[in-house]
Amino acid sequence: MWINSHCGKPWRPGMPSDPVTSKHLFECQNCGECCKGYGGTFVTEKDIEKIAAYLGMKTQHFVDDYCQLSGGKPILAQGHRGYCAFWDEGCTIHAVKPQMCRQWPFIPSVLIDIENWQIMAASCPGMRTDLPDKVIRLCVSRILEKNKNSRADCASPTRNRTDISVRESPR
Ligand code: SF4
Repeated sequence: MWINSHCGKPWRPGMPSDPVTSKHLFECQNCGECCKGYGGTFVTEKDIEKIAAYLGMKTQHFVDDYCQLSGGKPILAQGHRGYCAFWDEGCTIHAVKPQMCRQWPFIPSVLIDIENWQIMAASCPGMRTDLPDKVIRLCVSRILEKNKNSRADCASPTRNRTDISVRESPR
């Protein structure tokens, strides 16, 4: 149960100061489960540039050696035992890991369908599932908005990756 630091009582939606932050909703357990499975981690052009520079490679070599295409977009390839190519008892490119990895689990899909939070949590022991949907939605929305405003291309403290399918918005 989460306690409101302002009054010492159990927090409930609607309390005057809504104190729920990313840390209340998610704490990475470093289990690597979200770095496992096919198809999860798209990399942006910026991601590619940063990771390639970090590895001392040309971007095209990085794409050729470490990416696959999914729907015409590059995703990180799988490596040993179905984990991301960069997982080795920890993310080996943590300092420059892709935007998607840093955002997890505060991603737009949660706002599209709040059930995605529970679906994602089934593979991620760091995500809390005992808070009301309304609270989760509000917190995710704030984090995404904050990231957008700050132009940071990511925000949250963790890796990403999952082979689960989150629900997409209708096109
Ligand atoms: S955090 Fe991202 S880049 Fe790092 S190992 Fe996990 S999926 Fe790969």
